[in-house]
Amino acid sequence: MTDRYSSYNERLDDLRASGVERTLPDLDLAGKWVRHEGRTLLNLSGNGYLGLSDTSELREGFDPWSRQWTSASSRLLTGNDKAYRDFEDLLVSAYGAESALVWDSGYHANSGLIPVLADTDTLIVADRLIHASIIDGIRLSKAEFTRFRHNDIGHLRSILAEKAHSYAKVWIITEALFSMDGDIAPLREIAKIKREYPNAFLYVDEAHSVGVFGDRGLGLSAREEILDDVDVLVGTLGKALGAVGAYSLQKKVLRSLIVSTARPFIYSTALPPITVAWAAHLFRKMMEMDDKRKHLYHLMSYMGVRLGMTVYSQIIPIIIPGNEACAKAAEHLTDLGFYVRPIRKPTVPEGQERLRLSLSADMTIDELSTICDHLLFLRGGLSPIRLIP
Ligand code: PMP
Repeated sequence: MTDRYSSYNERLDDLRASGVERTLPDLDLAGKWVRHEGRTLLNLSGNGYLGLSDTSELREGFDPWSRQWTSASSRLLTGNDKAYRDFEDLLVSAYGAESALVWDSGYHANSGLIPVLADTDTLIVADRLIHASIIDGIRLSKAEFTRFRHNDIGHLRSILAEKAHSYAKVWIITEALFSMDGDIAPLREIAKIKREYPNAFLYVDEAHSVGVFGDRGLGLSAREEILDDVDVLVGTLGKALGAVGAYSLQKKVLRSLIVSTARPFIYSTALPPITVAWAAHLFRKMMEMDDKRKHLYHLMSYMGVRLGMTVYSQIIPIIIPGNEACAKAAEHLTDLGFYVRPIRKPTVPEGQERLRLSLSADMTIDELSTICDHLLFLRGGLSPIRLIP
């Protein structure tokens, strides 16, 4: 008799053999530190860019006991607590948007929104490096899909010139700050191109830029003053803010369509009111954290100078081609007291394997100075480590 599970075992063996099996690390989180295998390490692998720890200062002004802690159901049934409405009102007034919608995750926002926006008469033109959740949203839609080379405005322009007239709608999709490369989309130029096409719309995922860039930390579309050109903006609450969930900003007509037809929105349990109220509380505080943002910018410039590379943001990719070499370098840094994870194929293309260093506002120059020493030593001592120039 054949083993019922043999095909699953074979598949897992294949993943293992090609070095792309993923496993969950055992960690305890403690602010900017993680405890891992009995050691305390500086966490350079998270997305908590503002370095918010659960301190009494952060809790000030938040009364958890006045909130419901348990979840109810989808927002369309009984989940739509006042906490949602209050948060959405706050987002509308912060951004000057027509409407806001809070989601349970950025993954659900991207995979739920795009099928609502794009139908068979739609062409989606997206940056080559967009996040998996956007790709899944595109796959679930019935739209035609093509990609432009990463941050290549000329390529975007030529695709639109060739194809835009054949479709009723064209959605241009980009991240504002790219999660694996740490570089920034040329948002002003993209907005300008969009304005040239009466059937074009612009979708910007600000997952990694909210909290870090722009007036009050509202992100890069705010910094570049193109909010009026962005038809859908997605921000996430689980990164700089250290909460969970996401929000989208859009015209009221789109919000009504989303509420009526976005499957992940309709068919999933709403976050409990306490979670939403806490995220709103953090968002309110985040808008006042200019000091933390300033310190983070200081850390970014320090890293650029020390490593001799262009640092665009708090995410710094150190390219180490090859899954094995990259894993080895990460292990080495872990031995030295830094929690750095290798980002390997298939998350990034082959040859682009990397250490993704992620800075947060609670780090100090001294701590970063030490990791720079080690990285520079690695560059000198281990080939083929290569820092992006
Ligand atoms: N967009 C981007 C660019 C992301 O990096 C992520 C998370 N890694 C998401 C969306 C998904 O957000 P969430 O974690 O809230 O599901």
